[in-house]
Amino acid sequence: FFEKRKDERKMNIIMLGAQGTGKGTVAGLISENTGWPQISTGDIFRKNISEKTELGVEAEKYISKGNLVPDEITVPMVEDAKNGVILDGFPRTIEQAEKLDKILEKKGEKIDLVINLVTPKEEIIDRMLTRRVCTNPECKATYNIKLHPPVKEGICDKCGAPLKQRDDDSDPEAIKRRLEIYEEKTSPLVEYYKNKGVLRTETVSISINHMGKDVAEEVVRDIKK
Ligand code: AMP
Repeated sequence: FFEKRKDERKMNIIMLGAQGTGKGTVAGLISENTGWPQISTGDIFRKNISEKTELGVEAEKYISKGNLVPDEITVPMVEDAKNGVILDGFPRTIEQAEKLDKILEKKGEKIDLVINLVTPKEEIIDRMLTRRVCTNPECKATYNIKLHPPVKEGICDKCGAPLKQRDDDSDPEAIKRRLEIYEEKTSPLVEYYKNKGVLRTETVSISINHMGKDVAEEVVRDIKK
């Protein structure tokens, strides 16, 4: 009976943190362990860009420069989120957080946990430059050629498709712009969620041997307690 109750308890989780801190990795592992779906706005955009959909063509204008995609396009992507969701890459501004609160409120739900990942800046830039993603839009696996390389160079372990560097990771101007936007628009969310009492900050750094997979393990352990 208690086991069943535990399994039925679902949480809405947000992944917060600058680019390259491992949000996608942590979200993916928590999703695998809980069965709760991961919604990554960045992944949805990249899939649409590779399939050249209308949404993709529009979003690419912003993404290629490292800018945020306007809310009219981005907010509807999370409107259908059901109880038990791991949001990765949304919200990215106070405005988006307030809109999300309204969406959830209408369904009688709320954000239960915000995992804020913090990584030293030099490490972040290095991690963006060494990040590789699977080109298969159905797969979206992520690697790091230094820290977490695929078994066979340039090939995805999960699906065998070629790996590539994200366009916005190979352009130094786009990297710079994304980090500026993070500081200016996204970092105020740390305070926003701290005030709501749902913030959990975790340092992810090779220097303390604490990586995304460790954070995911610890969070899953606490969720299942
Ligand atoms: P990510 O994979 O999360 O780094 O997202 C890649 C890019 O998609 C970002 O640099 C933005 O241009 C865009 N994007 C993703 N999520 C959002 C969001 N919540 N609001 C606006 N733009 C977003």
